Amino acid sequence: MTLDSSTISPIDLAEKSSFFDSLKENPYFSAGFGLVGIGAGLSILKRGTSLGYTLCQKRFTVSLEVVSRDKSYEWILKWINSHLKQKARHISVETFFQKNDKNQRVSTSFSFAPSIGVHFFKYKNDWIRAERTRESMVDRNTGSPVETLKLTALGTKTNVFQDMLLQARQSALSEQSGKTLIYHAGLGGDWGLFGWPKDKRPFKSVVLDNGIAENIKNDIKEFLNSSKWYYDRGIPYRRGYLLYGPPGCGKTSFITALAAAIEHDIAILNLSDRSLTDDRLNVLFAKAPLNSVILLEDIDAAFGSRDIVKNNPTAFQGYSPLTLSGLLNALDGVASSEGRIVMMTTNYVERLDPALIRPGRVDVKQFIGYATKSQIYRMFMNFYPQTDSELASKFSEKLSNLNKNMSSAQIQGFLMLFKNEPYLALENCVSYFNK
Ligand code: ADP
Repeated sequence: MTLDSSTISPIDLAEKSSFFDSLKENPYFSAGFGLVGIGAGLSILKRGTSLGYTLCQKRFTVSLEVVSRDKSYEWILKWINSHLKQKARHISVETFFQKNDKNQRVSTSFSFAPSIGVHFFKYKNDWIRAERTRESMVDRNTGSPVETLKLTALGTKTNVFQDMLLQARQSALSEQSGKTLIYHAGLGGDWGLFGWPKDKRPFKSVVLDNGIAENIKNDIKEFLNSSKWYYDRGIPYRRGYLLYGPPGCGKTSFITALAAAIEHDIAILNLSDRSLTDDRLNVLFAKAPLNSVILLEDIDAAFGSRDIVKNNPTAFQGYSPLTLSGLLNALDGVASSEGRIVMMTTNYVERLDPALIRPGRVDVKQFIGYATKSQIYRMFMNFYPQTDSELASKFSEKLSNLNKNMSSAQIQGFLMLFKNEPYLALENCVSYFNK
């Protein structure tokens, strides 16, 4: 049915107007109308305020969000706490155990950080709002809940945060100076800190045959200073080293001392790890911690040369799902701008696939062999620095006359028996090594 105005009679209209008049006069109805009006007004006001707040926030504040996965998260939390001083009433604590490498004692220290919630602190002339939130999601690498820290400051320039991050980084690094950090691959594609930061191993404490240690150190220093040379020629800025030779001769110890000498940390990748796939390896290479040497130990243990695998297909079964081509891809991947340094060690260089150690993947190959006469002499002098060099000469003479293969680890083990008695060490060395 359609409704037309011509169908409404004057009597109907009169009835309608008296109906509206009676509604107007009804106190309950007019109060309801008022309430609806006030409600609508308030809601518009609320919307307007929140819109205005969001606009002001966007227009007049700057913010920075840091997630707990990021390395700077810990730094900035600690740094903020030092700025909150006694003013923060809600703080959280984390207990650290620190091991002294000299006396092996473990000491405890506490690190305080602003707790979950909102905090305010003043930095230079700006008031900063810091909001720390925790999610129910757990970080697969650390097993801790994912957290976010949001810093907000009045103004339009983000310099305030850059400055703050630099300071936080600086104070964190100054705490770590003199230490080497060791990273291990976490379950995902991220790296995690492994154990305590270690005291830097002195370069001279690893005694290699004449010139080897210095040559490698010079090579790596030159590499670190020549990024422009690589870029100008379009050569990927990376360098690979392979140290090979019998066990216990100082390959790993040398890499530790070398990393310390060039102010780098060490990121260790265990290629026999059964959860290491080609994809994960690629991600780990791409996300290697800055200023670190990637160490691939006992590289022969992951997969042998293609010939070995061809002749004995089951030889490497049960090892990691990583394939040789996956490793080659990761080694050839895009290097970071800091330059990528990969160090590999093996006791069996002959087992390695030639493709793995061709130039570009391994640029420096160095044999680290059994202790030579000169090494034995220097190890003795390192062990007994106050002693007469005449004793060291006699000691090295006696041992090299035995014509036996001795690793530096064996010599070190022997000297440990006579910690403060160089004469007894000299007296007993032949009978000990002749056993
Ligand atoms: P590799 O990696 O060649 O198997 P390591 O570096 O693991 O040998 O050495 C094992 C132990 O022997 C370490 O405690 C190290 O201090 C000692 N050692 C081995 N070679 C040397 C060396 N050339 N100079 C000083 N110490 C050494």
